Amino acid sequence: MLPSRALAVLSVASEAYPLIKTGGLADVVGALPAAVGREGVHMRTLLPGYPAVIAEMKDARAVHEYADLMGGPARLLVGHAGGLEVVAIEAPHLYRRTGNPYLDAQGRDWADNALRFGALSKVAADIGHGAAPGFHPDVIHAHDWQGGLAPAYLHYGDGPRPATVLTVHNLAYQGKFPATLLGDLGLPERAFSMEGVEYYGDIGFLKAGLALADRITTVSPTYAAEIRTEADGMGLDGLMRLRSAVVSGILNGLDTEVWDPANDPHIAAAYDVKRLKAREANKAALQERFGLNAAPRALVYGIVSRLTWQKGMDLVLAGLPALLAQGAQLAVLGSGDAELEQALRVAAEQHPGRVGVILGYDEALAHGIQAGADAVLVPSRFEPCGLTQLCALRYGAIPVVARTGGLADTVVDANEMALASRMGTGIVFSPHTREAYMHALDRTATLHAQPTAWRALQRRAMETDVSWQRPAAKYAALYHEVHEHRALLTGRAG
Ligand code: ADP
Repeated sequence: MLPSRALAVLSVASEAYPLIKTGGLADVVGALPAAVGREGVHMRTLLPGYPAVIAEMKDARAVHEYADLMGGPARLLVGHAGGLEVVAIEAPHLYRRTGNPYLDAQGRDWADNALRFGALSKVAADIGHGAAPGFHPDVIHAHDWQGGLAPAYLHYGDGPRPATVLTVHNLAYQGKFPATLLGDLGLPERAFSMEGVEYYGDIGFLKAGLALADRITTVSPTYAAEIRTEADGMGLDGLMRLRSAVVSGILNGLDTEVWDPANDPHIAAAYDVKRLKAREANKAALQERFGLNAAPRALVYGIVSRLTWQKGMDLVLAGLPALLAQGAQLAVLGSGDAELEQALRVAAEQHPGRVGVILGYDEALAHGIQAGADAVLVPSRFEPCGLTQLCALRYGAIPVVARTGGLADTVVDANEMALASRMGTGIVFSPHTREAYMHALDRTATLHAQPTAWRALQRRAMETDVSWQRPAAKYAALYHEVHEHRALLTGRAG
């Protein structure tokens, strides 16, 4: 048999590390092409032409022009940027705005976000129908609500189409817009139905993708199951149940070159699983940076997080007296809700030397916390996958996590039976209550007081495979499967 060409996939997203990032989505979109490339998949990434993207595309060349793309002229540029093969939509009326990709300078959603991300999805579909000469994707892989309409444009378009995959990184962001925009988005009247883009009387971008994509993935198997329930489905549980046969969960990986304690420019002392003692220097550096007492034996908890309701920071505040009663210290790096920021600031003022808080986003300091903290707290209410606990495992900072979503799938609870079998990589608690959380702190302190058991726990954590290798193989298999299925349907239709 002749060797077949690599499967061609177009990844469609509103952000990609290192070009533009507001959260974990960018990390995944940025890492996926190289990861699936090793599995024989040729991936290009379609991005809005924000200034940060266009500026990096030194070799850009135009392959297609639009006289009118959602209200203005536009061009499709192909080239390289940030280590990715990028297709960028140069459309100044939609994307020539600096700063946050979704919000204006006052922190409000851009008023034309429906058109901005409708255009992203529309262009993805056009490429699927052959708009970019020489590039005919076999699979269109859209991410989150910003790519949610791509399967809809393909579904309601004419002619053969590539297979579609939609990945849900966070069901909380749904892209809901007034029904009056249907015409502006270039969608036909018949698309506005329960089986299509209609969502409680509005247009639902994510809903449309969930209804019409050939396959759906979420970023962990447990999250895939949770969002079928009314409690966690955020209004979409009925649809998730209906489509459960095509839904699967694939965990995110971590860029193990960026996150490598043996080779990390951001930390005080390099270490690995055989040189755990070198972690002590990182702990001392962390204590100094956060204004904590220089106490080598104190149990230091770290937090690196958006400060929001989702992340369970209220639980951390409620459990602070218990944490301090253990003699432990707390170092928090984060930014988010003003109220939570203020409460943490007050906690640091009230407990000098015991609680240190740095508000802001600081990639280097995040590495410092993972390298120096004994344990990292991730008490999220829901967590589609979560990257912080993966970093913690890799750095031997024991993750203390809520049993939800990707946290439940990546951290193995070091309970008594697990420990007796030399298993366990962290502490997992449920339900999401102060009592259960405080019990987890107690268990952590008890283990930390046993140096041999603690070191064994750290070693197992650090030996966990958190790389992209397994997830990439799963995505590659999914692309092949969905492409073959589509080809079969098209063959039959023809
Ligand atoms: P989410 O995408 O919901 O914010 P994830 O855990 O999936 O949560 O990804 C967040 C990533 O951003 C993690 O790698 C985390 O370490 C990092 N991060 C979050 N807040 C900060 C911060 N204030 N400074 C540096 N890194 C941060």
